[in-house]
Amino acid sequence: MPSQSSEGAEHDVIVIGGGPAGASAAGLLARQGIDVLLLEREKFPRYHIGESLITGCVGVLDELGIRERVENHGFIKKYGGSLVWGQDGRWTFTFVEGKPEFPHAYNVRRADFDALVLTRARELGAKVVEEAIVKEAIVEDDRVVGVRYHLRGGEEVESRAKLVVDASGQARVLGRSLTEVDWHEDLRNVAVWSYFQNGESLTGDEAGNIFIEHVPGGWFWYIPISDGTHSVGFVTAVEDATASGLELPKLFAAKIGESTHIKRMLESASQVSAFRSARDWSYACDRLTGPGWMLIGDAAAFVDPLFSTGVTLAMLSASAVAKAIPAVLDAPDLEASIFERYEKSYREFLGNIISFVRYFYNAGLDRAAYYEYAQALVDPGKLFFPRKDFVTLISGLNQLHPIFELELEGSGTPTG
Ligand SMILES: Cc1cc2nc3c(=O)[nH]c(=O)nc-3n(C[C@H](O)[C@H](O)[C@H](O)COP(=O)(O)OP(=O)(O)OC[C@H]3O[C@@H](n4cnc5c(N)ncnc54)[C@H](O)[C@@H]3O)c2cc1C
Repeated sequence: MPSQSSEGAEHDVIVIGGGPAGASAAGLLARQGIDVLLLEREKFPRYHIGESLITGCVGVLDELGIRERVENHGFIKKYGGSLVWGQDGRWTFTFVEGKPEFPHAYNVRRADFDALVLTRARELGAKVVEEAIVKEAIVEDDRVVGVRYHLRGGEEVESRAKLVVDASGQARVLGRSLTEVDWHEDLRNVAVWSYFQNGESLTGDEAGNIFIEHVPGGWFWYIPISDGTHSVGFVTAVEDATASGLELPKLFAAKIGESTHIKRMLESASQVSAFRSARDWSYACDRLTGPGWMLIGDAAAFVDPLFSTGVTLAMLSASAVAKAIPAVLDAPDLEASIFERYEKSYREFLGNIISFVRYFYNAGLDRAAYYEYAQALVDPGKLFFPRKDFVTLISGLNQLHPIFELELEGSGTPTG
C-alpha cells in the first residue's frame, strides 16, 4: 500500500522533472503563492547535453529574477552564431540584430545552469524533492489527480494535486501513457559528441559564438563552454550513420576529416572525455494538455538542436503555463478553454521553428533564401527586414507570436 506524501496530502500543482522546464515552471508558480511539489529523478548537479542557449530564454531568467546570477556565474557570453552553411561560405549573425535589449545569451555547463534554476525554484517556495522517481499518473474518472513515485531505494509514495505538469524531458512520464507521439521522420537524426581542450577559440566579434559547420551528410557544433573547453558534436541522419557502417566515434573522426574549419580548430586540441551519443529525433505529442495535466519542454515536443532552441522552448513553455495555471486554479470551469489556448499558441510557435529547421536543412540555398523564408513564417506583413526576422526567429524571440501574450484576457478570467 503506497504511503501518502510526507510533503502533504494535496498540492495545487505537481511538477515532474527539475530541468529548465520543470524548475522554471515550479519557481514561477511558487512565486505567485501556489503550492508546488517538484519531483526530480536525479540528485543535482547532473549532466545534460544542450549547452548553447539563445536569447529567447533571457526574459524567463528575468521573470525568475536570476539574470544577474547567471551573468555573474562565469558562463561564456554568446553574442551570436558563426556558420559554414549554404552557398555563401562562412557567415555570422548577432542576437542584437533581432532584439537589441537581449544582446547575448550564454554557453553553459548544463549541470551548473540547471542546478542554478532548480535552486531558484526552491528559493521561490517550491517544494523540491530530488531522487524521487515518478512512475505513473493517478487517474480517476479520466482526470489526472496526482502521481505515484518512489524515493531512490525507498517505498512507493502517492501525492495528489489539482494539476500535474509533466516536465520530465524525453522520458515523457505522463505523455507515454496519455498521448501518441508524432515522430518527424525527416528529422530522424543521431548526435555524437565529446569535449576538447586547447581547441582554437573564435576571437573578436565572434568570441563566444556557437560555430556550426555543414559537412556532407551532417553538421558539427563547436561550443565554447569554459576553461578553454569546447563541446564538439556531429549530427547526422540515423540512416546515413547506419549506412556508413562505422561506429559513431569513428564516424565523428571521419567527418572531422571531411570538414574544413573544425579540423583546423581541433588540430592542437586534446579530447578530455569519452564520446556520448543520443537519439536526436524530433517529435511532438499529439496532445499537450488534458483533464488535470499539461506537458512542457521536451516532454511536450523535441526540436532538432540545429538552432539550439531546446532550453528556450523549455523555459518559454514553463512561463506560459505559469500564466495559465493560476487562471485555471481561480476558475476551474475554464480549464479546457485555457488549456486549449496554451496548446494552440505553443504548437504554432513550435511549428514555425520546426518548419524553419526543415527548410534550413537544405544546405544548398543562399542566405537570402533563408532570411526570406524566416520572414514568410514570422513576419508575413514584412514589417522588418528579412535578416532581422531570421535572427528574431532563431533567437526564439518572435514577438509577433501570441505565446508571449498568454495573458488570458480573452477568457474572461483574471491573470494570476
Ligand atoms: C544532441 C543534442 C544537443 C542539444 N543541444 C542543445 C543546445 O545547444 N541548446 C539548447 O537549448 N538545447 C539543446 N538540446 C535540447 C535540450 O537538451 C533540451 O531541449 C532541454 O534539456 C529540455 O529541457 P527540459 O527541462 O524539458 O528537459 P530535461 O532538461 O531533460 O529535464 C527533464 C528532467 O526530468 C527528470 N526526469 C525524467 N524522468 C523522471 C521521472 N520519472 N521522475 C522524476 N523526474 C524525471 C530528469 O532527470 C531531468 O532532470 C540538445 C539536445 C540534444 C539531444
